[in-house]
Amino acid sequence: MIDLNHGSGAVYGGTGIGSVAERVNLLLDDALLAERRAQTPRTYLGASRIGEPCARRLAFEISATLPDEGRGFDGRALRIFDAGHVFETLSIRWLRAAGFDLRTERRDGGQFGFSVAGGRIRGHIDGVIVAGPEVGLPWPALWEHKALNARSWEDLVKKGLKESKPLYWAQVQIYMAYLDVPVTLFSALNKNTQELFHEPVRFDPTDAQALSDRAVAILRAVDAGELPPRIAANSDHWVCRFCDYAQRCWEQTP
Ligand code: SF4
Repeated sequence: MIDLNHGSGAVYGGTGIGSVAERVNLLLDDALLAERRAQTPRTYLGASRIGEPCARRLAFEISATLPDEGRGFDGRALRIFDAGHVFETLSIRWLRAAGFDLRTERRDGGQFGFSVAGGRIRGHIDGVIVAGPEVGLPWPALWEHKALNARSWEDLVKKGLKESKPLYWAQVQIYMAYLDVPVTLFSALNKNTQELFHEPVRFDPTDAQALSDRAVAILRAVDAGELPPRIAANSDHWVCRFCDYAQRCWEQTP
């Protein structure tokens, strides 16, 4: 009788299942990181980042500053991005099946978006719903999608977008401002359970103007070779603890 389990996981040069897993994952991470490195670094301010709470961090990002040693995207983060696109494709299919006329591409195949300030502020929306069933929303409505883990999704459902996810709130406000559409349907998928939450977000001209003014001020500071102020008075602020530029910010810049 053949023992199908005998020696499972062993490969020459390896010591077992763990070794194989590590080797495969290293290859996957290397491939994803190589893809990422091949991309042109952003020198514009994307709508998805405008709500970042620290202006100095945004200045580092848009001046293509290298993250601190050992910081920046890793393979897992890049897989999470890719998975987000797959979840988005599913949500698009489900909405269309339910009768929502959701457009995600222009006729020429490009993404819907905007570019202002000489291309220094840009954004691309996930889609626009041009018609659909009666759900209490006017059409057209912009459509933005995020795939969230259970804890993050539950927090969104409980508190709403503005309080729970100010970064995404800012993103959709900027989209509505520059695309001149007064409402967005924000759809969030719970990656653990596949539950969906949909929040209608109305345009808030005051918030949008403040965000736009802040973006312009950060671009001006970068162009002048200046660093905007830090978000915090010391480096143990929670935002700084998660920042890829913390060392550069606190040890190498004034
Ligand atoms: S370390 Fe803190 S203050 Fe410095 S850029 Fe990052 S978030 Fe901003």
